[in-house]
Amino acid sequence: MAESVGKYVPTPDGLNYDFYKHAIDGVLHFPRCKKCGTYHHPPRFLCGKCASSEHDWVPSSGEGKLFSWTVNHRVFDPGWMPEVPYATVVVEMDEEKVRVVGGLRGLDLADLKIGIPMVAEVEPAGDEFVFVYFRPV
Ligand SMILES: [Zn+2]
Repeated sequence: MAESVGKYVPTPDGLNYDFYKHAIDGVLHFPRCKKCGTYHHPPRFLCGKCASSEHDWVPSSGEGKLFSWTVNHRVFDPGWMPEVPYATVVVEMDEEKVRVVGGLRGLDLADLKIGIPMVAEVEPAGDEFVFVYFRPV
Protein backbone atom coordinates (compact mmCIF):
# COMPACT_ATOMS: atom_id res chain seq x y z
CA MET A 1 0.00 0.00 0.00
CA ALA A 2 1.85 3.05 -1.24
CA GLU A 3 1.05 6.24 0.52
CA SER A 4 2.30 9.74 -0.18
CA VAL A 5 4.26 11.02 2.78
CA GLY A 6 5.07 14.68 3.32
CA LYS A 7 8.01 16.07 5.22
CA TYR A 8 7.67 16.08 8.97
CA VAL A 9 6.90 19.60 10.19
CA PRO A 10 8.05 20.23 13.77
CA THR A 11 6.19 22.37 16.30
CA PRO A 12 8.92 24.68 17.63
CA ASP A 13 8.90 25.90 21.22
CA GLY A 14 11.00 28.22 23.37
CA LEU A 15 13.66 30.19 21.54
CA ASN A 16 13.15 28.05 18.44
CA TYR A 17 9.56 29.23 18.36
CA ASP A 18 10.79 32.83 18.31
CA PHE A 19 13.20 32.10 15.44
CA TYR A 20 10.55 30.47 13.27
CA LYS A 21 7.86 33.00 14.18
CA HIS A 22 10.12 35.79 12.90
CA ALA A 23 10.86 33.88 9.65
CA ILE A 24 7.25 32.99 8.80
CA ASP A 25 6.96 36.06 6.55
CA GLY A 26 9.77 34.68 4.38
CA VAL A 27 12.65 36.71 5.82
CA LEU A 28 15.24 35.27 8.21
CA HIS A 29 15.67 37.31 11.38
CA PHE A 30 18.46 36.90 13.90
CA PRO A 31 18.60 38.05 17.51
CA ARG A 32 21.08 40.91 18.04
CA CYS A 33 22.30 41.79 21.51
CA LYS A 34 20.97 45.19 22.58
CA LYS A 35 24.08 45.83 24.65
CA CYS A 36 27.00 44.88 22.38
CA GLY A 37 25.40 44.27 18.94
CA THR A 38 26.52 40.64 18.59
CA TYR A 39 24.20 38.38 16.61
CA HIS A 40 23.25 34.93 17.91
CA HIS A 41 22.24 31.81 16.06
CA PRO A 42 20.93 29.42 17.14
CA PRO A 43 19.06 31.78 19.47
CA ARG A 44 20.14 31.77 23.11
CA PHE A 45 18.96 33.39 26.31
CA LEU A 46 22.23 35.17 27.08
CA CYS A 47 24.64 36.92 24.72
CA GLY A 48 27.73 34.78 24.22
CA LYS A 49 29.94 37.89 24.28
CA CYS A 50 28.56 40.07 27.11
CA ALA A 51 25.93 37.86 28.83
CA SER A 52 23.12 40.40 28.32
CA SER A 53 19.64 38.87 28.17
CA GLU A 54 18.18 41.62 25.96
CA HIS A 55 18.07 41.38 22.19
CA ASP A 56 16.15 42.57 19.14
CA TRP A 57 15.11 40.40 16.20
CA VAL A 58 16.72 41.95 13.13
CA PRO A 59 15.78 41.09 9.51
CA SER A 60 18.59 39.63 7.41
CA SER A 61 19.47 40.08 3.74
CA GLY A 62 19.74 36.28 3.71
CA GLU A 63 23.11 36.54 1.98
CA GLY A 64 26.14 34.56 3.00
CA LYS A 65 28.91 32.24 1.87
CA LEU A 66 28.88 28.46 1.78
CA PHE A 67 30.84 27.30 4.83
CA SER A 68 30.29 23.54 4.68
CA TRP A 69 27.89 20.83 3.55
CA THR A 70 27.05 17.17 3.72
CA VAL A 71 25.36 15.03 1.09
CA ASN A 72 22.54 12.83 2.33
CA HIS A 73 22.06 9.50 0.58
CA ARG A 74 19.66 8.07 3.14
CA VAL A 75 16.78 9.65 5.00
CA PHE A 76 15.39 9.45 8.49
CA ASP A 77 12.15 11.15 7.45
CA PRO A 78 10.53 9.39 4.43
CA GLY A 79 9.20 12.77 3.32
CA TRP A 80 12.68 13.65 2.08
CA MET A 81 13.03 10.47 -0.02
CA PRO A 82 12.15 12.15 -3.36
CA GLU A 83 15.11 14.52 -2.90
CA VAL A 84 17.83 11.91 -2.28
CA PRO A 85 20.68 12.53 -2.76
CA TYR A 86 20.49 16.06 -1.44
CA ALA A 87 22.86 18.43 0.33
CA THR A 88 22.42 20.03 3.72
CA VAL A 89 24.51 23.18 3.76
CA VAL A 90 25.95 25.48 6.39
CA VAL A 91 26.08 29.12 5.30
CA GLU A 92 27.90 31.86 7.18
CA MET A 93 25.78 34.99 6.91
CA ASP A 94 27.67 37.99 5.52
CA GLU A 95 26.41 40.65 7.91
CA GLU A 96 25.59 38.71 11.05
CA LYS A 97 28.54 36.27 10.94
CA VAL A 98 26.30 33.49 12.23
CA ARG A 99 26.10 30.07 10.57
CA VAL A 100 22.77 28.69 9.43
CA VAL A 101 21.86 25.15 8.36
CA GLY A 102 19.56 24.70 5.39
CA GLY A 103 18.81 22.68 2.29
CA LEU A 104 20.49 23.32 -1.05
CA ARG A 105 18.67 24.50 -4.14
CA GLY A 106 19.77 25.54 -7.61
CA LEU A 107 23.20 23.91 -7.67
CA ASP A 108 24.43 20.49 -8.74
CA LEU A 109 26.08 18.60 -5.90
CA ALA A 110 29.26 18.30 -7.98
CA ASP A 111 29.50 22.11 -8.10
CA LEU A 112 29.50 22.66 -4.32
CA LYS A 113 32.53 24.71 -3.28
CA ILE A 114 33.35 26.47 -0.03
CA GLY A 115 32.88 30.22 -0.30
CA ILE A 116 30.15 30.28 -2.96
CA PRO A 117 27.86 33.31 -2.39
CA MET A 118 24.43 32.02 -1.35
CA VAL A 119 21.07 33.54 -0.51
CA ALA A 120 18.38 32.11 1.74
CA GLU A 121 14.96 31.00 0.59
CA VAL A 122 12.46 30.64 3.39
CA GLU A 123 9.55 28.31 2.73
CA PRO A 124 6.75 28.42 5.32
CA ALA A 125 5.24 25.07 6.33
CA GLY A 126 2.16 25.85 8.35
CA ASP A 127 1.83 28.77 10.75
CA GLU A 128 4.82 28.08 13.01
CA PHE A 129 7.64 26.55 10.98
CA VAL A 130 9.71 27.29 7.89
CA PHE A 131 12.10 25.22 5.85
CA VAL A 132 15.30 27.15 5.12
CA TYR A 133 17.06 26.62 1.81
CA PHE A 134 20.04 28.31 0.20
CA ARG A 135 20.77 28.82 -3.48
CA PRO A 136 23.71 30.44 -5.29
CA VAL A 137 23.38 34.19 -5.82
ZN1 LIG B 1 26.13 41.19 24.00
